[in-house]
Parts: sequence; C-alpha cells; structure tokens
Amino acid sequence: MTRAKTAHVDLDATRGSLDVLGLGYASELLEGLLNEAVKDNHAPHVFLDRVLAAEQSRREERRIATSLKLSGLPQDMTLGNFDFGFQPGIDKSRIETLATCAWIRAHETLLFQGPPGIGKTHLAVALGVKAVANGFSVAFYRLEDLLHAMKQDAEVPPRRLKGKKYLKTSLLIADEVGFQTLSRQEASLFFRLVSYRYQRGSMIITTNKSVKDWPEVMAGDEVMTTALLDRLLHRCHVFNIKGRSYRLRDLERALKQ
Ligand code: ADP
Ligand code: MG
Repeated sequence: MTRAKTAHVDLDATRGSLDVLGLGYASELLEGLLNEAVKDNHAPHVFLDRVLAAEQSRREERRIATSLKLSGLPQDMTLGNFDFGFQPGIDKSRIETLATCAWIRAHETLLFQGPPGIGKTHLAVALGVKAVANGFSVAFYRLEDLLHAMKQDAEVPPRRLKGKKYLKTSLLIADEVGFQTLSRQEASLFFRLVSYRYQRGSMIITTNKSVKDWPEVMAGDEVMTTALLDRLLHRCHVFNIKGRSYRLRDLERALKQ
C-alpha cells in the first residue's frame, strides 16, 4: 500500500513525459500496469513491454474504428456471425483464404452472384471488415449511391478525382449491381471506374444478375459491357451462389409445420 502511494507521486512526472511524447494511452494505463508489475514482481523489461503493448493495441483499436467509420461498411456483418452451415453452396475454406487479404494486395476482384438473401452483401462486408483490420483502406457503396457520388463528381478535374474514395481505396465494394438498369451516362461512369481500378485496386461486386444479362443492365451497350467484363473478370474470384434465402428461413420453417 505504502509502495503504491510512493509510485503514484512519482508517476505524475512520468505521465507528463508520456503525454508530451504522444503516448496518451500508456500514460492513462501506467498506474495500473505499474501496480500489476509490483504485485506480480515483473522484470523491468516485461513492464516496459506491457506499457508499449497497451499503447499499440489501443492505437490499433482506434485506427480500426476510424477506418470502419470512413469505409461506410454496414455493421454486424462479419465472418464470425456468418452461418456457413446454412449455405453449403459457399465453400468456407475459399472464403477463409480470401480473408487473408492476399488477393487485395494482388489487386484482384471478387464477384458474388446469386438470388436475394443468400448472404452476398454479408460476405462482401465481412471481407471488407477483415481488410480494414489488415490495414487496407475500404469503401462500401450500394451501386445507387456510388453512381450518385460519381455523377456529382462529373465536373471534377481528373487530377483531383484521384483523391476520391471510390478511386483511391485499396478495396471498393459495389453492392447490388443489377438491381437497376443504368442510363448510358451511368453505365459509362461505371465503366470508367472499373477501367481506372483495373490492376490498381481491388473490387468486390455483388449482383443478382448473371454476367450474360449485364449488357441489359449497362444501358444495352454490348461493346462496352464486353470491355467492362473483360477487365472485371480478369483475375477474378467468382462465387456463383445457389441457395436458400436467409431472410426467408423463418418463413420456410413456419410453412413446413
Ligand atoms: P443478399 O445480399 O444476398 O441479398 P444479405 O447478405 O443481405 O443477402 O443477407 C440478408 C440478411 O441475412 C442479412 O441480414 C445477413 O446478415 C443475413 N444472412 C444471410 N446469410 C447468412 C448466413 N449464412 N449466416 C448468417 N446471416 C446471414
Ligand atoms: Mg445484398
């Protein structure tokens, strides 16, 4: 008890130094860690390690929280809460391999295709969350919002356009491609986006439409759609999911009774 009190007095100066050096979390946790070190008889290097580790892990937590906020990723969709048992058509080990994020470093693309409710958005978001944790920048948009943002930036000069989130992030997620038919202007903006990101950054696209129906989605422009798919599908991990809707599982269960 006497010891802890003495330590507390001396701590103010140490705390001040840590604060000046920008180690605010270490400063905050110093007293607790010091008491623990005294109680458990830690060697000085162990104590120092713990102080630094505390600072590092709090900084990492803050970085992840900020990046997640900036990314626009919806909450509560992670690999941890995805029930692979419900969707046997999805190869868990393939998803786990993608969760290493090696494909993002290689600027590859990922396509989730299938009917509503089978977990396309959930998996795209979960891989986005993983990418954030691994230090990649991520931007999540529903296609409608992405097109809106690109239309607003139509007059921005190319030099400044490069700073836009949908161009500069390591991973861009475009959710719900195919829900709406694009106008010629929208299709051309989407084409330019895919061309720009090709071999520069990764994309995840979720769609309810098979690629053979894409010309129809892209304002009926077959030539442009072929060029677009050529870039998109080069070095692309395709998941063609056939399964039951997770949204309708309760209804299914009720109907069976
Ligand atoms: P899709 O994008 O294919 O239409 P979603 O990913 O939006 O489907 O899934 C619909 C809802 O069901 C979401 O709330 C999602 O979190 C949940 N969901 C879908 N599949 C699963 C699953 N296998 N395990 C847990 N939750 C799931
Ligand atoms: Mg969806």
